[in-house]
Amino acid sequence: MLTYFPSPYPDEWWYSVLCRYHVCSGHSKHATTISELYGGRLMLRSRLIPGGDCAAILSELPPGVLSIDDVLANHTLLPYYTRFFTIDKKRQVWEALRAGRGSGITSVRMQMPDGMEGLKYCPTCCRLDTQQYGEPYWHRVHQIPLLAHCPMHKIPLVTVPIKFTRLSEVFLPLVSIHCQEAVSREKAPWMEPLADMIAALLSGDYAPTVGYNNLHTALLNAGYGWTRSTSIRP
Ligand SMILES: [Zn+2]
Repeated sequence: MLTYFPSPYPDEWWYSVLCRYHVCSGHSKHATTISELYGGRLMLRSRLIPGGDCAAILSELPPGVLSIDDVLANHTLLPYYTRFFTIDKKRQVWEALRAGRGSGITSVRMQMPDGMEGLKYCPTCCRLDTQQYGEPYWHRVHQIPLLAHCPMHKIPLVTVPIKFTRLSEVFLPLVSIHCQEAVSREKAPWMEPLADMIAALLSGDYAPTVGYNNLHTALLNAGYGWTRSTSIRP
């Protein structure tokens, strides 16, 4: 049984919860906390896609404290990475994760558009979370590689460079980072609308309509393409 396991904050990323557990546990070595969390089993964790580690950890908590559905829906990026899955496919993925297996989702790009890889935070979120909760934490929405701006505060995110594969071995709570006040970066016109769209995809329950592509049809209607039947033959 895990004692001192923290309750997740709003939109807190699952890795961030584990980092705070490491701090609460008082262990000086990361390996001790990892062994405690997984009972000595070798588990990959802290990637952008959640794995069997969620179910493994929750099985060590008293029943009713934290449900896996709550963790997957509100503290991982699973809703974002399954946004184009059909309802049946989404159900399969969730069942696998509930049973402690992997999601089966592969080929997720870890790097940001500029090629960097790392954890991101918003300086304003960091300050406000510290005021409200007494400590800052990693927000899950900020970790989406395409996201360059905070959807809440419309300011650039700060990146702490680290390989995601390293996060299986180390705990890096945001409180251990010296948070910058702000970063100056050129703001491209697409950044803010993209941030709004990504945030909406994370919180909504989306699924495609099989056999019908609204976007394709809308683009054709707006004159941005042509179908085989309307193309001009030489
Ligand atoms: Zn923010």
